[in-house]
Amino acid sequence: MKKLLVWIMTLSMLCSLGTFAYAAGGEAPIWVEKVEDLPEDFILGVDASSVIAEEESGVTYYNFAGEEQDVFATLAESGVTHIRVRVWNHPYDRDGHGYGGGNNDIEKAAQIGQRAAKYGLKLIVDFHYSDFWADPGKQMVPLEWADMDLAEKTEALYAYTGESLEKLNEAGADVAMVQLGNETTGAMCGETDWDNILTLMEAGSRAVREQCPDALVAVHFTNPERGGAYADYARRLDEFGLDYDVFASSYYPYWHGTLDNLSSVLGQVAETYGKKVMVMETSYAYTMEDTDFNGNTVGEDLSGVKYYPFTVQGQANEVRDVIDTAAHTANGIGVVYWEGAWITVGGASREENAALWEAHGSGWASSYAAAYDPNDAGKYYGGCAVDNQTLFDAEGQPLPSLRVFELVRTGSDAPIVPDAAEDAIVTADVNGEIVLPETVSVIMTDNSRQDVPVTWELTDELEQQMRSGGGETFEVPGKAGDLPVRCFVDMVESDLLVNGGFEDGDVGWTATDLAGADELYVEDKATDSLTGTKHFHFWSAAANSVEFTLEQTVEDLTAGTYEYAISIMGGDSGESEVYAYVKIDGEMTAQAPMSITSYGEWDTGDIGDIELAEGQQLTVGVYVKCAGAGGGAWGKIDDATLKPQG
Ligand code: CA
Repeated sequence: MKKLLVWIMTLSMLCSLGTFAYAAGGEAPIWVEKVEDLPEDFILGVDASSVIAEEESGVTYYNFAGEEQDVFATLAESGVTHIRVRVWNHPYDRDGHGYGGGNNDIEKAAQIGQRAAKYGLKLIVDFHYSDFWADPGKQMVPLEWADMDLAEKTEALYAYTGESLEKLNEAGADVAMVQLGNETTGAMCGETDWDNILTLMEAGSRAVREQCPDALVAVHFTNPERGGAYADYARRLDEFGLDYDVFASSYYPYWHGTLDNLSSVLGQVAETYGKKVMVMETSYAYTMEDTDFNGNTVGEDLSGVKYYPFTVQGQANEVRDVIDTAAHTANGIGVVYWEGAWITVGGASREENAALWEAHGSGWASSYAAAYDPNDAGKYYGGCAVDNQTLFDAEGQPLPSLRVFELVRTGSDAPIVPDAAEDAIVTADVNGEIVLPETVSVIMTDNSRQDVPVTWELTDELEQQMRSGGGETFEVPGKAGDLPVRCFVDMVESDLLVNGGFEDGDVGWTATDLAGADELYVEDKATDSLTGTKHFHFWSAAANSVEFTLEQTVEDLTAGTYEYAISIMGGDSGESEVYAYVKIDGEMTAQAPMSITSYGEWDTGDIGDIELAEGQQLTVGVYVKCAGAGGGAWGKIDDATLKPQG
């Protein structure tokens, strides 16, 4: 997960009000289904790249007893086995200002590796081979290598990898795996030609074998959902003869397809080439709240496409299922959670936080990143976009979901109880009855669903707003047991007439020609229509040849008060008599005079207070009689509506 900003922009366009759920709240123990046959040495990793910058910004981490404790100790106690750390060549401008994202150069990585080793945690080294974020959208060459040809760059990358690993070894880090690039889906280190990319990767691999002979060499790709992509990468690596051990994938369930697909594409690589496979990055939102005044990549916008609720339990279930999938994929060796500790730096305003992000690199990018990446990081720099996907809360307390890494080995005996409720979505007529569902789907802690009766809190005031608000969507709160739920109601203004705008031709309408007009029909001509593309057209050449009625009878209306309207425009009408009318059981009960003036001047006949008793039949229509000015007359009729009168 690297292209934070672009994600925000993409996500904001996905405007779905789907199945978001509220958390039940409380400190209930989390439920975890045991992962069967999980190997003892299965990698359960957490990327903690931002920890040093976080601590420098004043962040404190706690253990499950609520005591201040080294975050690496807490991770180790929770069943985590590996720490992953990203490494940028030189994430600083000429004056030594960090670009942000943890300012993760090799010195930072050495500190993290050293502290992790203290608690028995192994290190996964994630070389981006860039001075800042590398991801599928961007693989910029480090500034120092920018003018090198491929041979020089290959040598530089080989030397840099070796020297960096030497520093990690010297610091006492327990390097277990080294990545040749980050999410290198067709680009790395400024190269986009596969032969060049693989030449560079090979140099990196050689350096790893020499400096850390016991470490695994990994390649890392993303977008497993793209058909054939992983098979293609693996084939290229094989044909080139790249010396590597692990084919790793990112897996963010919001975008990266199903777990079955992930298992299938990784399993295929494992079985075809005998490689180990793993999930190098995954994460899940435990809340929709943003805690650092910098918008998050995942929030309510995404609620419609998710399978787990945005709760602590939902997060634990996602991680558990990814572990289960990786463990049961051929040669699956592990799962790493991305940025488990990148919480808010804790300021009370964006300004306060921004000062810390700038000073310590604890946001995703600082303004100084403009020196390297002026068009993205240098423009959109700011805080953390994933602070709602961490494994610690905003105060630095570990979330119960952090325990998933130990509980996957045993399962938990927590009771299966309601955790969250799916949103209900209904449509209602502003003039009709607002019918809310009697039950909602409640997501249990084991991610199963149950229909639970719901009590809605639809106040008179809210209902009034909904009826007068026009075609808007409103949120009605409710309770399913103790669980807060909500129903999104799309208010629509429906019309009781069939085909009131003539868009379906003459369906529903009866035209009666009383004087032999030349033309009486529905015409398809947007410029002459009030709305849509069609309207009812009349024209006749001779004087006194325009006289007709156009009407529709509506069956099965409930007793009540109604309002009818219809519009007309035209010209050359001469002496004329035009009116909208209403008949009840065939008897004319009301008329509203209308006038034909000139092209584009629509006049609306509006008849309200139509009182209809049960079983009565209502007919609405328009009567048009024109002598014609000099000859015949012409005109257009459109947009008839019949609505209950509120
Ligand atoms: Ca944020």
